[in-house]
Amino acid sequence: MSDEIHDPQHDAAAEPSRPPFETCLKRGLRLRCPRCGQGKLFAGTVKMHERCSHCHLKYERDHGYFLGAIYINYGLTSFSSALLFVLFTFVLGYNRTHVILALLGYCCIVPVLIHRFARSMWLAIDCHFDSEEFGRDDD
Ligand SMILES: [Zn+2]
Repeated sequence: MSDEIHDPQHDAAAEPSRPPFETCLKRGLRLRCPRCGQGKLFAGTVKMHERCSHCHLKYERDHGYFLGAIYINYGLTSFSSALLFVLFTFVLGYNRTHVILALLGYCCIVPVLIHRFARSMWLAIDCHFDSEEFGRDDD
């Protein structure tokens, strides 16, 4: 028989509190810090702030950290282009060659347009699932 008593307050104190996954995603869609929801991620169109202006969460934790955002960007672009191909070719009956040519342009433009959101979502997902890094403020 175990003498341990489950104390939820003790468990909460052991790990830094983190917002629910939905909250992190909403903050990511708003291009805000996933930890506090206050600080802006971007200083301009492309340039990111190094840290959150409110809670000082470091955004780019290491060189190449945002490579994961490429997966999000690629996934969204390829999935949406596949859906558009099916919609325009099989549902609406457009010429397949014309649809493919239009989607080539789509696949060049959309990744640029969603670049900021892909980075923001990558940061939000990582901050939610990597609780050790999530609570760290050093370096
Ligand atoms: Zn913050």
